[in-house]
Amino acid sequence: MQHNGIEFNTYFKNFPDQNGYFGKYGGAYISEDLKNAMAEITEAYFTICKSSKFIGELRKIRREFQGRPTPISYLERLSNSIGNVQLYVKREDLNHTGAHKLNHCMGEALLAKYMGKKKVIAETGAGQHGVALATAAAYFGLECDIYMGSVDIKKQAPNVARMKILGANVIEVKEGLATLKEAVDAAFKAYSKEYKDCIYCIGSVLGPHPFPMMVRDFQSVVGIEAREQFISMTGELPDAVVACVGGGSNSMGMFAGFLNDPVDIYGVEPLGRGTKLGDHAASLKFGSEGIMHGFNSIMLKDEQGEPAPVYSVASGLDYPSSGPEHAFLHDLGRVKYDVVNDEDAVNAFFTLSRLEGIIPAIESSHAVAYGIKLAKELGKGSVLINLSGRGDKDMDYIIEKYGIR
Ligand SMILES: *Cc1c(COP(=O)(O)O)cnc(C)c1O
Repeated sequence: MQHNGIEFNTYFKNFPDQNGYFGKYGGAYISEDLKNAMAEITEAYFTICKSSKFIGELRKIRREFQGRPTPISYLERLSNSIGNVQLYVKREDLNHTGAHKLNHCMGEALLAKYMGKKKVIAETGAGQHGVALATAAAYFGLECDIYMGSVDIKKQAPNVARMKILGANVIEVKEGLATLKEAVDAAFKAYSKEYKDCIYCIGSVLGPHPFPMMVRDFQSVVGIEAREQFISMTGELPDAVVACVGGGSNSMGMFAGFLNDPVDIYGVEPLGRGTKLGDHAASLKFGSEGIMHGFNSIMLKDEQGEPAPVYSVASGLDYPSSGPEHAFLHDLGRVKYDVVNDEDAVNAFFTLSRLEGIIPAIESSHAVAYGIKLAKELGKGSVLINLSGRGDKDMDYIIEKYGIR
């Protein structure tokens, strides 16, 4: 299938290119010593991860440890409440640890093991990526250093406890505002000293090449499974596919299964409290081209051109940019990007819980809210939503801030 001059039949062969570019986005804007480290990972990725031994072992892990394939559920009561449309969810909430993040963490940690590394390093903001990586490290017997800002350590006590129970070292970062950005800087700095013995494991389709490609490929299991399952359930493709976009990994995994199909694809960004800079994290909607954290993409900037402060009720969506492949698909028009605010996401959180017995992560609730809105507009056909995670982690905060709805 062609779209704006791009042939999607051969898309994954051509994007990213050799230097890690999706059109003008992506690349690797890093120091010389990290360039060597990235070249080593890229080389290992193309040899090790494409080998049948690696693929076979990862498949077995997905089946026996992660609980894959995750099912697709038909949302009967929600669909009936709207009318003549069918809504479905891909249940990444049923993945071990309760979200899609383990899909790429198991891949990255397995690669570390094959490369003979002893340790994995990462940063974490809300702690979700740290927990998933600590889980993978425990599984493979790797050391695990997680860099986390002091402010986030205080805010995310349960996830800090989980990481410690799983045997990870949580390293406090006290510099600057002591949140995600400082944690990324500290983790990269440590990595550039230690890269011979460890690999950096990025939490989304972000960072320098080869990470956006690698994380997409590990996450594409979501879209590949979903496409097959949907066809065997209904006999056809969905009319539309929807996923929430923070850094962009659950969405890229889902979209990868459908880019070459006549399916409308929607990425949903968080509009937070509103359209003013600082009140949202809708980088593709309101941002402009720029380089941060080692890659070129579309980002939200302050007056100095630095990454702007962002906000969303969903801490997993709270990032001032998105992966370079999203920026590319955005400009190309193959994926439509739109926004959902806090209020509508919270309503969807309760709607899915009440009507279907599924408590969604507040991140995923953005996709659910958009899927409902889209289904109402379409008035017919089918919509498949990626339910990136479960909402247990969000319950206390939502009840405290919004009450029971
Ligand atoms: C981290 C997270 C996200 C956002 O990350 P992406 O890389 O955009 O997928 C979405 N949903 C859940 C449940 C998460 O934990």
